[in-house]
Amino acid sequence: MCLLFNRVVDMENPERHTVYLVVSLFVTFLSNKNSTPTDEKANAKKQSLVFRHFNTLLGYSSTEKCFTIPPARLRKAAVCNAFISGLPEILDMNLHTGNQLLPTVVQLLIHLPSPQKLASDQNVTNYSLALLTQHTRHLWLQSLILILYKYRFDQLPVSDNIMRLIGIVVKTLQNQVHECSEGEQSTEIDTWDEIEEDDTGRPELIRPESLTVTTIKEATPAAEGIVQVGAVRVMQPTIVEPEGLAPEPMIARKRSTIVQEVKRKKSAIEIVKKSCTLRCGHCNEAIEMFDEETVSLCLIALETFLHREPSMAAPILFKILYTVTRLIDTPMYPWHSTEMFVPANSRSVAKQMLRVSLHHLSTSAICLQLFDTKIPRPDAFWAVIALSLADFPELSPVYFIQILLEDLEESWPGSVRLIMKNLAFYIVEISTDMYNQPWVNLVGHLETFFKRYHTAISVDNANPPTRAEIENVIVVMSHVLKVQTFNSSKCPVALVEAFAKWLSESLHGAEVSLEALLGVCTACNRALIRERDKQCVTRAVVTELMQAIKFKAKLHEANYVTIANMVLQDAGEDIEVALLDDQFNTAASEAIRPFLFEVLDFIADLHVIAKLKKESNSDSLGGDLKVKLAEAIAVEMSRSNARDCRTVIRFIPWLMSPPSVTQAAPGAFADSVTNVRVLSWLLLGALHANHSCLPVPIECSQHMADYIHFVLAGFADQSKQSVVHMSALFHAFHLCQLWTVYCERAATYSSATAFAHLIDFWARVTPAILQLLSHSKVLADMVNLHFLNTIQALQQVNSALLCQLYSMWAPILTAYHSQIPNQLRMKLDSCQNQPSLEAPLVTEWLKKVRYKISQVELQTSAASPYYTV
Ligand SMILES: [Zn+2]
Repeated sequence: MCLLFNRVVDMENPERHTVYLVVSLFVTFLSNKNSTPTDEKANAKKQSLVFRHFNTLLGYSSTEKCFTIPPARLRKAAVCNAFISGLPEILDMNLHTGNQLLPTVVQLLIHLPSPQKLASDQNVTNYSLALLTQHTRHLWLQSLILILYKYRFDQLPVSDNIMRLIGIVVKTLQNQVHECSEGEQSTEIDTWDEIEEDDTGRPELIRPESLTVTTIKEATPAAEGIVQVGAVRVMQPTIVEPEGLAPEPMIARKRSTIVQEVKRKKSAIEIVKKSCTLRCGHCNEAIEMFDEETVSLCLIALETFLHREPSMAAPILFKILYTVTRLIDTPMYPWHSTEMFVPANSRSVAKQMLRVSLHHLSTSAICLQLFDTKIPRPDAFWAVIALSLADFPELSPVYFIQILLEDLEESWPGSVRLIMKNLAFYIVEISTDMYNQPWVNLVGHLETFFKRYHTAISVDNANPPTRAEIENVIVVMSHVLKVQTFNSSKCPVALVEAFAKWLSESLHGAEVSLEALLGVCTACNRALIRERDKQCVTRAVVTELMQAIKFKAKLHEANYVTIANMVLQDAGEDIEVALLDDQFNTAASEAIRPFLFEVLDFIADLHVIAKLKKESNSDSLGGDLKVKLAEAIAVEMSRSNARDCRTVIRFIPWLMSPPSVTQAAPGAFADSVTNVRVLSWLLLGALHANHSCLPVPIECSQHMADYIHFVLAGFADQSKQSVVHMSALFHAFHLCQLWTVYCERAATYSSATAFAHLIDFWARVTPAILQLLSHSKVLADMVNLHFLNTIQALQQVNSALLCQLYSMWAPILTAYHSQIPNQLRMKLDSCQNQPSLEAPLVTEWLKKVRYKISQVELQTSAASPYYTV
């Protein structure tokens, strides 16, 4: 046999066909059960000797326990090919012989597809089945499947070798659906550059990013040493003419017969096939295309492995599942992307493999593990999982979530952030009008889950949810609320209440987008039946803002304005946030209605802007929030009626009875200053709203004038008493400006009498201004400054009133003092000389007023911290 060995390895040996037949006969004998010796020791000894000889024939050294022939030669050897052809048969039919051969067979299967050049190369890993011919590949896979199915392989050293075989299978599938992995990129490309420089000296010839197809010169024994990098041989990328294609010399050609010509062409094609390889232009990994049979057999091998030894598979489980989802996500043939049944369709095999494995492993917390894994391209991954479970009654895609929740009930992890991210990607892939019963069952589990989740985020040292986490949770909530059978579950309201509780808590710590809030509130509104239940989530969100403006809860600073915007959006107001969708129905403007008086108190409070500034470090938050909430009240007041004074009597009854100068009660002046501020905020809110918003009827103009008159008249005496009183002049003049702009807008859009009322208003206010001017020089300068600012403001908004009254107002400024201060003079001149050419921007002016009023409130609050206590 040993003599035979030396002759069969020679490829040109004419006896190799005979050798093939002899070995085939031997293999057929081995696969026969009767070949097993029954009792006699002698027979067993004989058989052992036969195997030893056969191993030597294969090139396996029984003493050194390794192969002595390089895999490339083994792949061509007649003995090896004859043995591999019959191997599945032996493994299937004769377990006794199979067990005896197993350690050698497993090593042979590792060795055969290896790219190593020398038999002695150690630790060659991470290769696929690409070097085997298609036929050998199928036999290789069939043999592996039989080992995985019929033999014990959980003991060393076989178990280690089985892991290597599984690695080869996984690599084969990975190369079929190549995806650049971050780790591989940089080093691989470095290697490329080095080799390019060294070998050709012309690195510009092939650049890694442009290199997709190259021919690879089969290394000759002489070249082998050069291309060794450490123990691993690096493929040498050069463009070479495949030898077989080089034209033969003319004379030689003439001599060649037709048979030789055909032979030559055939071998040329072979060489091209072998020497062409496809590589990723980005990371230089091999990209290989395998036939469907190979892919399917790989999948069956993996499935069998997972089924038999899940604990062995655990460390590479995710890698396996991820690769399989990539196969499903990347159709290879046109029939892969259709619903049509095609036998041996590898995509169907992959789907089946995935669902059977998930089902099998579902009892060992696979769901929790999978959802708690950082997944590259999670959208595609979870879409494939949902797709694969779609028509699988044993494990419906919804039931898969239930298992996750059951796993979580058993062991709650430190953080569910990643789980919620994956769940958000997964749940949106599941139809809400199918899986009726599973959805109904899920509702109860979700309730338990969200209660637990709420506890987890509200304990003292909890990690508050991040913005992304909240948005993911909202995706989950919104999707569940869209389930068609949501209301047939046992207690849908209890789940919605659990949602609302979680959401309220999460608003404290992180920003949430308006769109997400609108989405979940709308979903709740549509999901439930009873009117009160519909508003559950909206009410919880609005209540949280109300708690925060009373400083009983602390919101994330961005959420104040977001929730206020939610109310305004529902009231039909334009908000500055761009929304992709306008099909929202949250009923938030209804939810805030019971709190409107508390909102009024907030607006009236001189100290809240300072408090919010301290809390949020934001200069503008307080003023922005006040104006948003004032707009909400203005819209609400305007909704009921703009013509009579009933809403005024309800919300700001004091406007109907201004204090009289002669019979003022003590404290009336301070109250009036507060009321003037409230009116300013209300008008600011109204002017931010759509033009039909008229919270204070124009008919109240006279009361408005009386209020301002009272403040101006009392100012000379009262202003020295406190800082608050000192700000009275500022607020009174700003209210005059706001009322003027408000009336002019009404005159343009809705009220025929508004302008007349405005003239009347100024007729009442002007004498009070004149009165103050005559008081003292210091006071006159102050009043003049405010008055001039008012004229400037009206000029900026292109006021029609100013045109009418300017000729009357100009002399006022100089009437009582022949020497007007220089600063005022210049300001006045600039007013007179500046014609308004551009369209007035009321919004710009409103922003400025809002800012100024907020700043004055801040300063006043800082100077009189105990004012309202
Ligand atoms: Zn790549």
